[in-house]
Amino acid sequence: MVARLPFSVFRFPILRLRAFVQTGIGEYAERELPVPRPGPGEAVVRVHAAVICGTDIKLLKRGHARIALPRTMGHELCGEVAAVGDGGDPALLGARVVPGISGPCGACPECLGGFSNLCESGHADQTWGAFAEYVRVPASVVRTNLHRVPEGLPAAAAAFVDPLASVLHGWNRLRPLPRGSPVLVYGAGAIAFLWAATARLQGVRCVIAARRPERRAVAESFGADFLDVSGGRPAESGLAPAAAAIDATGDPDVWSRLPFLVSPGGKVLLYGGCAPGATASFDAARLHYAEISLIGSFHSTPGEAAEALALLASGAVDPLPLLTATGRLADLPAFLEAQARGDGLRHAIRPDAG
Ligand SMILES: [Zn+2]
Ligand SMILES: [Zn+2]
Repeated sequence: MVARLPFSVFRFPILRLRAFVQTGIGEYAERELPVPRPGPGEAVVRVHAAVICGTDIKLLKRGHARIALPRTMGHELCGEVAAVGDGGDPALLGARVVPGISGPCGACPECLGGFSNLCESGHADQTWGAFAEYVRVPASVVRTNLHRVPEGLPAAAAAFVDPLASVLHGWNRLRPLPRGSPVLVYGAGAIAFLWAATARLQGVRCVIAARRPERRAVAESFGADFLDVSGGRPAESGLAPAAAAIDATGDPDVWSRLPFLVSPGGKVLLYGGCAPGATASFDAARLHYAEISLIGSFHSTPGEAAEALALLASGAVDPLPLLTATGRLADLPAFLEAQARGDGLRHAIRPDAG
């Protein structure tokens, strides 16, 4: 059996890997590190494609209270299982997979209450380190949140499972919505377009409101109407009241404004994560007399990740137009800089391409 043979001989052609490691706030470096060996129940995945997410840029800029540095960057990936640890399923070897970030326990009050996305132990050991040739996948993720990628789905498209799943989670948080009603998405990054790409499947119309008029054509290509709010507040008065408004900016000022952009009885989804310590204020009268619901949304469940993968595999959602460029691992610094400047949408690297 292949699984019983020494992994280093058969599945690891190299002993050291190249990785981009965040070393401090605003600092990162290319490093040579030992190829991880899988612990019990863990897997090691050879990264075929990794996509730079807005979260990667935010972490680099401002760090994260729960993420200790140094740490290899990147978390949206697709790859091939190169090794499984003791107790792992040998049938996984060679499979193309997308690992989720967290592996919910299935037994805590959050998991049992339908909030497995919030499972604390599931987040204690995350899949992190996609900007490298190999990445370790925690045992909890292998157990509950590792998804086989159907043949024919390109790795770069499959790497969009995580952001798409978090959008599907947001839709689940917003349900029910009146059929055919307009839903406003505030922001024009790649995530906003994933909202647009899935709105039709939810039976609603998407309006993207953003300060970047040059993104109108992309919005329309994903089936959304576009509202230019670069002029600030007055331009927003041209907006038909929406049944729901979704923040895709992580800007507390936008959070504060959204209750005024939905109809009475409307819902506001606080989707974009704000900086650590940020606070947002809301007009109390608006929330009260118009019965506006403020709804948080974070991460996704393994079921939503599976659903996201199915949408990508069937072609119902095609994220590839969101990829401004694809390059090699060495292209990462240029891609990080471009994405931080707001140049282009998403960038993908193929660490296995050298
Ligand atoms: Zn992400
Ligand atoms: Zn749990």
